[in-house]
Amino acid sequence: MGDNADDFRAHVRDWYEANATRRGATDPWAVNVQTDPGDAVAHFEACRAWQGRLHEAGLMGIAWPSEFGGGGGEPWMSRIEREIAREYEEGTGFVGASTAMIGPALLRHGSDEQKRVFLPKLLSAELTFCQLFSEPGAGSDLASLSTRADHDGDDFVVTGQKVWNSAAQHADWAFLLVRSDPNAPKHRGITFLLVDMATPGIEVRPLVQINRSAHFNEVFLSDVRIPVTNVIGEVDDGWAVARTVLANEAAFIGGGPKTPASENLRTLAEQADRSGDPTVRQELAAIISREHIAGWMGEQIQQAIRRGDMPPIDPGLIKLMTAQNRVRTGNLAMELQGPAASCGEASQTLWSQAELYGRFSISIGGGTNEVLRNNLGERVLGLPREPGYAKDQPWREIPR
Ligand SMILES: Cc1cc2nc3c(=O)[nH]c(=O)nc-3n(C[C@H](O)[C@H](O)[C@H](O)COP(=O)(O)OP(=O)(O)OC[C@H]3O[C@@H](n4cnc5c(N)ncnc54)[C@H](O)[C@@H]3O)c2cc1C
Repeated sequence: MGDNADDFRAHVRDWYEANATRRGATDPWAVNVQTDPGDAVAHFEACRAWQGRLHEAGLMGIAWPSEFGGGGGEPWMSRIEREIAREYEEGTGFVGASTAMIGPALLRHGSDEQKRVFLPKLLSAELTFCQLFSEPGAGSDLASLSTRADHDGDDFVVTGQKVWNSAAQHADWAFLLVRSDPNAPKHRGITFLLVDMATPGIEVRPLVQINRSAHFNEVFLSDVRIPVTNVIGEVDDGWAVARTVLANEAAFIGGGPKTPASENLRTLAEQADRSGDPTVRQELAAIISREHIAGWMGEQIQQAIRRGDMPPIDPGLIKLMTAQNRVRTGNLAMELQGPAASCGEASQTLWSQAELYGRFSISIGGGTNEVLRNNLGERVLGLPREPGYAKDQPWREIPR
């Protein structure tokens, strides 16, 4: 593998040409929704296998330290690999998404031993992870979470309920937030744990959505024993680790799909004979521009993350923009196809419906639009903080 950009690009291109399928060779209208549980498992395992192959080829964690299974390369190498990967069909799906969430948090907050144990298996997808953060009473206000963890010898004993946990029915392990000190202020009594999903006391119940797929789950934890050695960062200081995960999650969700929706929208405009319609052209131009802007912002954030720096742009901004783009693309798809697009099973129709309904999941998962706007107002614009509880009030005394 060469160490200048041209050599590296050629090397990655050769590998993808030999191992992957060029985008466009398959159905551009295919939607990533599995309504059959068997298909969902097959899809998850295909993502795992693809990540494993990328890792074998030295194309996962390119800029991560080599002693922890990474490539020890430069951040620009990851950028080149991502650019090329977008031109091919195969993807790492949720497996890659969770790697992007927990990997940087482990690199930043994990002990050397934890990095040695988990990072190589994370990159190769031998171990896949889901996120057990949200609870029925703690979503936007995540720090009010109440899943309880009692210290008992070398273990924490954990009891509580989590909800909306993507891919928890497939993942081998989870990263979990628990309330370890109810007497501390709410952000200070939280611990961040890794847990094997096969541990006794964990029950996963898939939640079937309106489109008949089960993207996420409820997870019940009853006296689950988790070794204290699985704590990432310090006991009671898990909020710092959670923030790293959430920043990476927002950046990843905002990173955008491989295929920009505008490509299909252009086809729909041609089919409807409306490519020359000024209102359609104006909306298409806005969507294409916004896709590019979101892509550039995403790349700047990813570059900083790969270097281990703080992102130069608040990741919430790009997540918000991506959610707003989805509203525009769904609306335009429906307008171009007319009322017929709201029912029917043709692939273009199903794609348009997914584009329309997708606005809900993207504007809630990883932080709702309203909450992201609050955060941006406070962190970026310097607006006064939301009125709320007293900062030093013990969690136990805060009304819920
Ligand atoms: C597709 C998807 C995948 C997800 N995956 C996971 C996962 O893998 N793991 C996990 O732990 N969680 C996951 N979640 C859960 C997600 O993080 C929460 O749904 C989200 O944080 C919102 O919390 P909530 O649902 O409890 O809504 P609430 O917090 O109850 O919000 C309800 C409404 O009130 C508004 N609101 C709340 N607070 C404020 C405020 N201060 N100011 C203004 N408006 C406010 C919100 O914007 C929203 O409109 C997922 C969600 C989705 C949609």
